[in-house]
Amino acid sequence: MSEAVVQQIVNVLGEKRTFLLTTHIHPDGDAIGSVLALRAALVQMGKACEVVNTDGVPQLCSFVPTCEFILAQPTCARADVGLILDCSGQDRIAAPPEALAACDLRIIIDHHQSSQPNADLNWIDPTASATGELIYELIKRLPVEIDATIATCLYTALATDTGGFRFSNTTPRVLRAAAELVERGADPHKITYHLFEERSAKASKILGIALSRLQQDCGGRLTWSVLDRATFDALQADDDDIENVVNFVRNVRGTEIGVLFREGDDGRVRVSLRSNSRYDVSRIAEEFGGGGHRAAAGCRLRTTLEDAVARVLHRARQVLAADGPSSPMNHQPLTMLS
Ligand code: AMP
Ligand code: MN
Ligand code: MN
Repeated sequence: MSEAVVQQIVNVLGEKRTFLLTTHIHPDGDAIGSVLALRAALVQMGKACEVVNTDGVPQLCSFVPTCEFILAQPTCARADVGLILDCSGQDRIAAPPEALAACDLRIIIDHHQSSQPNADLNWIDPTASATGELIYELIKRLPVEIDATIATCLYTALATDTGGFRFSNTTPRVLRAAAELVERGADPHKITYHLFEERSAKASKILGIALSRLQQDCGGRLTWSVLDRATFDALQADDDDIENVVNFVRNVRGTEIGVLFREGDDGRVRVSLRSNSRYDVSRIAEEFGGGGHRAAAGCRLRTTLEDAVARVLHRARQVLAADGPSSPMNHQPLTMLS
């Protein structure tokens, strides 16, 4: 099944001339790295490409080579092929729908468990740790040399979605791909420094605030934090500044489900869910119109912060209550500090 579709995609990339590449809104390193690696490969093949993301490039990915080619809007009237990468839902596509509708053919390449593929060609592989892993495998079949730009883009994608090759989706397959990318010029230290270590002063402060507000329930198996509008406004912070904060919430010892709630400026509450992979948090996210992966998922609720917290935690408590604690350790709940 996947072999046939991959071959069809290889054929289309060889035959067609013009391409529109896009990914999901609020793009992460997998999204940005995947589109830019595929763009570089298509450019090597002499194709015309435009990369669009209506949300632009997050500060976190500003080090990725060729990110200046990502446009907020398409400039070409139409392209032969629309490529949608790392995007599980229609409503998360970061390109104008009419631009994709004008293409002769649309292709989705994705690794989300909750993916709802409805393009002409759909290559969905939830066993891939990152969309970048699929793009690596695709590029290996194209008449393209993996140069330092492609290697850096793809390594950024793999490192992002595996949390720097530490999460439960870190497989021999992704490590082999990463090893070749390092041979081809990706710099692991530099890339992971930018992705996971370097933080703006604002992001450091907001991390501190989120951690100081940790709350726990279910004997410490459920841990969460809440960032309200006033906190963002006081720091003049935005979404870029809370990247990875939810992982610190999940990493509190004994936690099985970690949740970060963030009050947006658009009347919606963004919810990030993480699990130790025993629990499938994408199922919880899906119930609220979102999606993602078993161990990392998200959703947005159009409601008040208090209501979103109450509803999502209610479901998380039910999920945890269903089969009891996974370890005999008795975790004391933290008290709320602020
Ligand atoms: P985040 O918590 O934003 O880092 O997202 C974690 C995972 O959940 C990523 O794989 C996202 O693609 C997915 N995700 C986050 N928010 C949504 C949403 N509103 N709808 C569908 N998937 C989402
Ligand atoms: Mn992504
Ligand atoms: Mn991804």
